[in-house]
Amino acid sequence: MPELRRDPVIGRWIIIAQERGKRPTDFLIEEAKVKGGFCPLCPGNEKTTPDEVLVYGREWGYPNTEGWKLRVVPNKYPALIIEGNLDKQGEGLYDRMNGIGAHEVIIETPNHGDTFTFLPPDRMILVFRAFRDRIKDLENDPRFRYVIVFKNFGKAAGASLEHSHSQLIALPILPRMIVSELAGSLSYYKYKERCIFCDIIRQEIQQDIRVVCQNEHFITITPFAPRTPFEMWILPKVHSSAFQKEDDFKFAFLTDIFSESLRRLDACIPNVPYNFVLHTQPLRSTEMEHFHWHFEIVPKLTSIAGFEWGSGFYINPMPPEEAASYLRESLEKK
Ligand SMILES: [Zn+2]
Ligand SMILES: [Zn+2]
Ligand SMILES: [Zn+2]
Repeated sequence: MPELRRDPVIGRWIIIAQERGKRPTDFLIEEAKVKGGFCPLCPGNEKTTPDEVLVYGREWGYPNTEGWKLRVVPNKYPALIIEGNLDKQGEGLYDRMNGIGAHEVIIETPNHGDTFTFLPPDRMILVFRAFRDRIKDLENDPRFRYVIVFKNFGKAAGASLEHSHSQLIALPILPRMIVSELAGSLSYYKYKERCIFCDIIRQEIQQDIRVVCQNEHFITITPFAPRTPFEMWILPKVHSSAFQKEDDFKFAFLTDIFSESLRRLDACIPNVPYNFVLHTQPLRSTEMEHFHWHFEIVPKLTSIAGFEWGSGFYINPMPPEEAASYLRESLEKK
């Protein structure tokens, strides 16, 4: 019997319509292969990208030359541009403003063949540091209200370059998804005086059917109402609303669990295309007792069709309890 499930934070409904006997790899809809050729993100080609705004690992030498471990550069084909003012206007009931924002590419490694999943810990931690340092820097620009950090891996998930990278976009408005999470968690908080994410973590640890893995400071779960098979959320165990305020000590534990979670996913479905996104508090806001930062990892295994577009419902053929059990066993089997 199919089941309707409601996400407790934003109230989004999903349908679990299980297709029995399906193995994890049966969900793969297409081979994700991004085309090769000239790579602007490789060492030696620094001059083909806009000037770097952050670099780690270059001990000597000029900006935009080789010898780096991680670089952040503005996107050459940005969705929004950095110069100008917002010039907010109303047109009757319609609102518009200039497309001001920052669109940056985090080049996670100099090695073209590396994948994020298998980066050694001392390299992966630089990626989280870069996310934090860029958010903190963009926080100084009063035009921006939010920085959304995300990764597209694999062609089906929207990656256009093979070289391992993630992206961020600083926005002059709050994205709708964040507005929903802030509102949902605030109404829960007003009613119960507890953070809903802290409550989710507590209940997931106690029930222990959707926990994928955990360490001292972080937990990975398959959420109760996931949009896709193998969707995972990574959350800090101790309440915190701001990713950008975390230190390198915490990032070491985050690196551990992120890497383990992705390796478990890869062991279930090798090379699966996925997106991840960071949800943290809005820029310049003070610590929020109701909101809890987290990453959402969403494998690209199902297609969004008319029903999803029109209704906002997602149809997921795999219950998260089953996904969690595959993910838990996946590395041990290898
Ligand atoms: Zn490359
Ligand atoms: Zn919390
Ligand atoms: Zn979220």
